[in-house]
Amino acid sequence: MKEFLKTKGFKMTPQRELIFRSFFEMGEHVSVDELYDRVRREDNSVGYATVWRNLKLICRVGLAEEVNIGDGITRYDRVTKVPHGHLFCTECKSVIEFNVEQLVGVLAQKAGERGFTPDSFKIEVQGVCEGCRALKASGSNGHSEETGLP
Ligand SMILES: [Zn+2]
Ligand SMILES: [Zn+2]
Repeated sequence: MKEFLKTKGFKMTPQRELIFRSFFEMGEHVSVDELYDRVRREDNSVGYATVWRNLKLICRVGLAEEVNIGDGITRYDRVTKVPHGHLFCTECKSVIEFNVEQLVGVLAQKAGERGFTPDSFKIEVQGVCEGCRALKASGSNGHSEETGLP
């Protein structure tokens, strides 16, 4: 990582190293707030702006990308080799990933038919996750559990 940044013209400071390490340990869909909390647990001298700036830097060098899923919170995702889409639960705000390799193929074909060359794809689906759906079904109407959902 140090070498990688050097080739991009950035130098690695201990704070920066901590922020980068924390981000990659946390994995997917990390918001600035979450990363900040995590970093502060190890070093509470790191400021919010520093965390934010370094997260932007991680994006700039191509190791992460922004994910915006309708709730106004920007999350950051590690760049992965396999293209994935996001299922966003509007109830519990969880983000579930799913493989979109096949979908991307179809989209690329559709774009190609119009002479368009796609660079990137964002596939985001909003709805209610399995857990919240079950909770709703049992919670709101306790005596009619067999009815199920349409
Ligand atoms: Zn993701
Ligand atoms: Zn949910």
